[in-house]
Amino acid sequence: MEINSLSQIKDIMERFNIAPNKGFGQNFLIDKGVLEKIADAAQIDKNTDVLEIGPGMGALTDRLCSRAKKVVCIEIDGGMLPVLDYTLCDHDNVEIINGDVLDKKVREAAVSRLDTPFSISANLPYYITTPIIMAFLEGGYNLSSMTLMMQKEVAERICADPGSKSYGILTVCMNYYADVKILFTISPECFYPRPKVESMLIRISKLEKPRINVKDENMFFKVVKASFAMRRKTLVNNLSGAFKMPKSEVCAVLERCGIPTDIRGERLTLEQYGVLSDEIFSKTVE
Ligand code: SAM
Repeated sequence: MEINSLSQIKDIMERFNIAPNKGFGQNFLIDKGVLEKIADAAQIDKNTDVLEIGPGMGALTDRLCSRAKKVVCIEIDGGMLPVLDYTLCDHDNVEIINGDVLDKKVREAAVSRLDTPFSISANLPYYITTPIIMAFLEGGYNLSSMTLMMQKEVAERICADPGSKSYGILTVCMNYYADVKILFTISPECFYPRPKVESMLIRISKLEKPRINVKDENMFFKVVKASFAMRRKTLVNNLSGAFKMPKSEVCAVLERCGIPTDIRGERLTLEQYGVLSDEIFSKTVE
């Protein structure tokens, strides 16, 4: 069943006696044009398996089923299961898993039902956008791309340039694992209930291997996290606190890396983070 309007969503809610659950970040898409554009943007065809996170009432799922070989969905809200039975009854290439996408076992169960490499498509619950993206990037899954709707501000953080206000841990991690492209903006009127913020659709294409080689991945992420711990502090202050190193030693490390000692973490490129974490790693195993 194609869901194209607010009146249809309201009819379904009445029929199943349900209401949008704020706690699960439920903002349902009601705009036909936008739903078609999101499904088209997922770049899927009858040879592609798709994982959808949070199908809700199935407005996007229906479009994905028409385009993909198979669609597996993870939905936390058990109240949506009878709704999905009803709205997706025309499709025999869809499976719904009732569970939390942040639970590794639930993700593995979903992925085990998909041929690889698979794609991910979702209008994400905004309260857990970052953990969901990181779980799929760090989880070692054989996935080709993720086409995701999220709060505009998070999309801007993902795509930010060094030195900008939005540049942070998420930007550096994303740049490490993937190519990212902003596709388009979606206004609050396209949802019910209307969110307070604008949304953006972005495509995250996972690289075959991380963009840079580092000696120790744990150290790399530790250095990135420490560098942004206090945004207003300099890199030297943040690193000296996190690694319990005198500032003079941190300055010497930065000088060996060719990084100015008065710089803040938000100005470092991915490559500079790579060099810096290698240098600190070598120092710790000396
Ligand atoms: N895809 C539907 C649409 O576009 O109309 C609904 C999108 S709504 C923004 C987010 C959906 O994710 C809801 O159906 C919500 O119940 C579901 N959800 C929220 N947290 C979840 C979680 N931890 N695991 C799986 N699904 C979740």
